[in-house]
Amino acid sequence: MMIVMRETATEEEVEAVVAKIERAGARAHRSSGARVTVIGAIGDVEQDASVESLGLEGQPGVDRVVPILKPYKLASAQITHGVRSVLDIDGRKVGGESFALIAGPCTVESREQMLDTARVVRDAGATLLRGGAYKPRTSPYAFQGLGQEGLRLLAEAKAETGLPIVTELMDIGDMDAVLEVADVVQIGARNMQNYPLLTEIGRAGRPALLKRGLSATLDELLMAAEYILKEGNPNVMLCERGIRTFETAYRFTLDLMAVPVLKELSHLPVIVDPSHAAGRRELVLPLSLAAAAVGADGIIVEVHPNPDEAICDGPQALRAEGFADYAQAVEQAAALAGKALARREPALA
Ligand code: PEP
Ligand code: MN
Repeated sequence: MMIVMRETATEEEVEAVVAKIERAGARAHRSSGARVTVIGAIGDVEQDASVESLGLEGQPGVDRVVPILKPYKLASAQITHGVRSVLDIDGRKVGGESFALIAGPCTVESREQMLDTARVVRDAGATLLRGGAYKPRTSPYAFQGLGQEGLRLLAEAKAETGLPIVTELMDIGDMDAVLEVADVVQIGARNMQNYPLLTEIGRAGRPALLKRGLSATLDELLMAAEYILKEGNPNVMLCERGIRTFETAYRFTLDLMAVPVLKELSHLPVIVDPSHAAGRRELVLPLSLAAAAVGADGIIVEVHPNPDEAICDGPQALRAEGFADYAQAVEQAAALAGKALARREPALA
């Protein structure tokens, strides 16, 4: 249920509605736009029924009461009344007019590899630094990531470059260690529907980059986001990374239509991962330009100083030496959609 307040509603009137919703056992989610405040009453079926019986239509300051039409209530565009969510990652904005360039190696391999990459992407204007310490590999015999040592190297790369870190969490048991380092916790495509993991990230409150599952519909992706949001963590970015289709000429099919459609359905920022969709480097630039031009709020891309020797995902990694040109081209494409690269905002004195 959504309670749309009048433009003239006072703070006391808004608070009175919130109090009533909470007394009925539901949670009140407040969202204030430029003109009106909208209060979402979020609860289970029983709580929804109690809120419905409150007769909020007659309450002072209330304009109208409307049902939330989607099963993903907190992720829906309806709940913010068209206002888009803008995340703040350590002073960098993601969403709105800010475009996030998230770059780094697939996996942390060594101190030299991680620090070299971090410097290159920082110098080219990247917003955030990516790198996996725990890797979801198809084969159990493949390199699984450096684990704790990888996290330590990510912390060092952040200390040196100032770039906030995006790194994947696969196992709740590694949560505390990952939270020590991650400014954004990546939930990989294979874990998109790992509901206990999503719930724990929701409780941890740390920003999350939620990747679309290999065969997940947009509704399923948004329901997965809802698990995080429901725990009171509003900092979720959705990520399109290619889906399984009948096509075999490339690794996955990058579903760029998902970008405008997700932005129609949801207020959450939408990031595109061209690297994992493509599987090969030559496709990464054109897909990145298309993603930026179609209105993505950012790109997460793999970069390596020496892709031919990369332990993991080398064929799709951009070469570090060409990364500045790549970043410039992406910046121009993002400008077509009215976005500029997110820079660190000077801290207020
Ligand atoms: C990754 O980002 O390195 C990764 C494994 O991505 P995905 O979960 O999309 O396959
Ligand atoms: Mn990878």
